[in-house]
Amino acid sequence: MPRMLLVLKPGCSDADRRRILDALAAGGADVREVPDLAVPVLAVTGDLERLRDVALEVFPGVAQVVRVAKPWTLASRSYRADPTVVRVGDTLVGGPGRFTLIAGPCAVESYDTLFETARAVKAAGADLLRGGAYKPRTSPYAFRGLGLEGLRMLREASRAVGLPTVSEVTDPRHVEACVSNVDMLQIGTRNMSNFDLLVEVGRSGHPVLLKRGRDATVDDWLLAAEYVLSQGNPKVVLCERGVRGFDPATRNTLDLAAVAVVRAKSHLPVIVDPSHATGLSAYVAPMARAACAAGADGLMVEVHCRPTEARCDAAQALTPEAFAALVADVRRIHAAMRPPAPTPAPAS
Ligand code: PEP
Ligand code: MN
Repeated sequence: MPRMLLVLKPGCSDADRRRILDALAAGGADVREVPDLAVPVLAVTGDLERLRDVALEVFPGVAQVVRVAKPWTLASRSYRADPTVVRVGDTLVGGPGRFTLIAGPCAVESYDTLFETARAVKAAGADLLRGGAYKPRTSPYAFRGLGLEGLRMLREASRAVGLPTVSEVTDPRHVEACVSNVDMLQIGTRNMSNFDLLVEVGRSGHPVLLKRGRDATVDDWLLAAEYVLSQGNPKVVLCERGVRGFDPATRNTLDLAAVAVVRAKSHLPVIVDPSHATGLSAYVAPMARAACAAGADGLMVEVHCRPTEARCDAAQALTPEAFAALVADVRRIHAAMRPPAPTPAPAS
């Protein structure tokens, strides 16, 4: 794939063309002319690092320079053909034939509600327990989570009910505490482009659940994954949670096509969060079923033992009973889909 396209002016002289080709060759790039176009276009490949500061736009004969965004490589299917399987505690995420269910409250609020909800989601068939201890909130006056105390509660709940845990990390300074208390680090939508945080969770080597930024393209999202992977941490699971749309009928717009796109372009597992995507409990199950049929590797669903009392995202929280019904539906849908190919070994 070309890294840069140079559109030349129709009347570009041979001398001007020579100067452009010499500059590209001096920068170590490979060039070929794209055939059969109405205007001359040069496709430039290779390592363009040395050409970064060369102002090709001002060369006589150049009409336009189109730089192709730096491609993500470690996240791509061409780097790794087999689907990645990520081990989280004793649970696996990704790979054919597997559908992983992550469930729990939006926030860890108290010992009692966390334990009650954890037991209920475990009984309904969840594979992983979620719960936010560091809550990124739009308003500084809203409940922002119990912090370290919340992480410790998650650790105890994990032991008590026998589920691995995932919790959001919002600050590079909290990575260590999160690693020692939970099994998977979540990067929330607001922090998908917090590159220092991505590097830090990459260095930790801990499994990472990387949510899609609410204004991120699939390429932006995969480049964020590349930050983690390039630190030598292959344990990345992607999570589509809706992007900002124009319609307030739902909190966000669930982009299920992105699941198919990621599946085609990347080897990383991709799950769907229908709770934040829709913002209303009535829409969670239909979108969960659709996500399963679209080929997602699992779901993350917000569940609260008493949704009306939830301190965060109450409107989208499912009751344990509603979650159990959803689990039964998606398990049936998943079983009806094409039989799985042999499962590859987990990333290490
Ligand atoms: C969450 O999962 O609790 C959360 C805050 O999600 P998001 O970052 O997708 O809004
Ligand atoms: Mn939430």
